Amino acid sequence: MKVLFAAGEAWPFIKTGGLGDVAYSLPKALKEKGIDIRVIIPKYIQIPEKYRLAMKHLGHKKIWVSHYDAYVGIEEYDLEGVIYYFVDNMQYFSRSKIYGEIDDCERYTFFSKAVVETFDITGFTPDIIHCNDWHAALIPIYVRERGLHNIKTVYTIHNLRYQGFFPNIEIEETLEIPREKYYREDGLKFYDVISFMKGGVVYSDYVTTVSKSYADEIKTPEYGEGIDGLFRKFDYKLTGIVNGVDNTVYKCSNESKKLLKAELQKKLGLNVDPNVPLVAIITRLDRQKGIDLITAAFDRMMDLGIQFVLLGSGDPYYEEFFRWKESQYRGRVCSYIGFNQALSIEIYSGADMFLMPSLFEPCGLSQMIAMEYGTVPIVRETGGLKDTVTPYNEYTGQGNGFSFIDATPEVMLKIINYAITIYRDKKQWDLIVKHAKERDSSWNRPAQEYIDIYKKVLN
Ligand code: ADP
Repeated sequence: MKVLFAAGEAWPFIKTGGLGDVAYSLPKALKEKGIDIRVIIPKYIQIPEKYRLAMKHLGHKKIWVSHYDAYVGIEEYDLEGVIYYFVDNMQYFSRSKIYGEIDDCERYTFFSKAVVETFDITGFTPDIIHCNDWHAALIPIYVRERGLHNIKTVYTIHNLRYQGFFPNIEIEETLEIPREKYYREDGLKFYDVISFMKGGVVYSDYVTTVSKSYADEIKTPEYGEGIDGLFRKFDYKLTGIVNGVDNTVYKCSNESKKLLKAELQKKLGLNVDPNVPLVAIITRLDRQKGIDLITAAFDRMMDLGIQFVLLGSGDPYYEEFFRWKESQYRGRVCSYIGFNQALSIEIYSGADMFLMPSLFEPCGLSQMIAMEYGTVPIVRETGGLKDTVTPYNEYTGQGNGFSFIDATPEVMLKIINYAITIYRDKKQWDLIVKHAKERDSSWNRPAQEYIDIYKKVLN
C-alpha cells in the first residue's frame, strides 16, 4: 500500500504546532507497520540549512497555476527511513511567514497541484493521498479534475478553526476549476467566500479528525465553525482518531522531578523552592487556548501560592500581558515569549502541573506530552482533552489529571485550588503522577486505525 502524506508542515523541518508533530510521528509509525508512506511538504526558507543543503534534487518542471507556468522542483530527504519530498518554488515559499501571507490562496493551490502533478518526478504514484488541514484540502479536487481514478483520498482535520477562507473570485483567478461544479453549498461555497477545508471534507473518500469527542463536537453549531451541517451529512465517512506522541522526541530523562524542577527554576530565574507548585503553560497564544481565562484569573491564581511559567507566542496582547506579569511577580513568574522546542522539553520535565483551559481542542498534544513527563494536566473538558485526561477521583484513586467544564475563571481557579490541595498530600499526588505516566500515548493503536481506514477506502 503506497501512501503520500501531504501537509503544510512537518517536524523537524518546520513546525508551528501539533500538525508538525503528527506529520513526523504518524508516518514513522505507519512505516513501522509496513506501509510505504512518504511525506510531502513545501520547501520553506525557514527549514534549517542542515536539511536544505542535504536535500537531493529529483527534478523540476512547469505546472499551470493561476494563469501562468510556475516552476516546481522536487527535493528529497530521507529522515530515519521515511522519505520526505519538498515542493520547491522560491517565489511561494521564501517568505517571512509560513502561513498568513497575502497570497496564501495561490501558495497552497500551487502546493496542492504540485502534489498531484509530480509523480513523474518522484517516481512514486500513491494509492492513497492522505491530506491534512486546509493547506492540502484542494488535493481531492485536483485528483478528480485530473481524472486520477485510481488514487483515493483521506482527509484529516487538525483544526477546523482555520479553514482557508478566500474570496470566491479565486475560483477563476487561482483555482481554475469550474464554478458551476464547485461553488455550491455542498462544494466550496461558504456564504459569499470559499472554504478550502470544505473541499477536503466533500471530495475526499474519508474524513478523520484528531479525537472522538471532537468528531462529535464538530457536528454541533457550537463547535462546527459554520459547517456542522456538512459533518452531519457526511457522518458516514467521518471518524475520530486520537493522536499519539513520539517517545523518541519526547523522551523522559532518568533524573528525578525534584532535580529537574530545581534546574528549571534556576534557569528561569524563579526562586528555587521544591515545595511551591510550579504551574506551566506551553502554547500558541490564541483565544482558542482559553488564555482569557488565565488573564482574568491571573492575580487570584498567584494568590494560591504558585509559581507560573509560560512558553508561548502569538497574539501581541497576550504576549504583553505575560511580560507585564513577569515584571510584577519577579521570582515567581517567568514568561518566555517565543518558540523553543528544547526549552519546552525542560519545562514539561520540571513543572508540576500543566494548565490547558482550551475553549475547544481538536486533540491537543501538549497535555499528552506533559503526562509523559509526569506533569499533571489541568484541562477544560473538551475535544481531545476530554478523551485523554481522566479527572482524579479522590474516593476511587483513579484519574491522571484534573478537569473542569464551565469556561469561567472562577471554575478554573477552583479546580487549580483543588489540585494544589491534592499536591500537598504526597501519597495522592504520586498516584496521579503515576497514572499520568502510565497512560498509553503511543502511536501503535492510532496508526492501526488509520491503516484500517486506508484499507476501507481502497476496497
Ligand atoms: P496546537 O496544534 O493547537 O498548537 P497542540 O497541543 O496539538 O496544539 O500542539 C502544540 C505543540 O506545539 C506541542 O508539541 C507543544 O509543545 C508545541 N508548542 C506550542 N507552543 C510552543 C512554544 N512556544 N515553544 C515550543 N513548543 C511549543
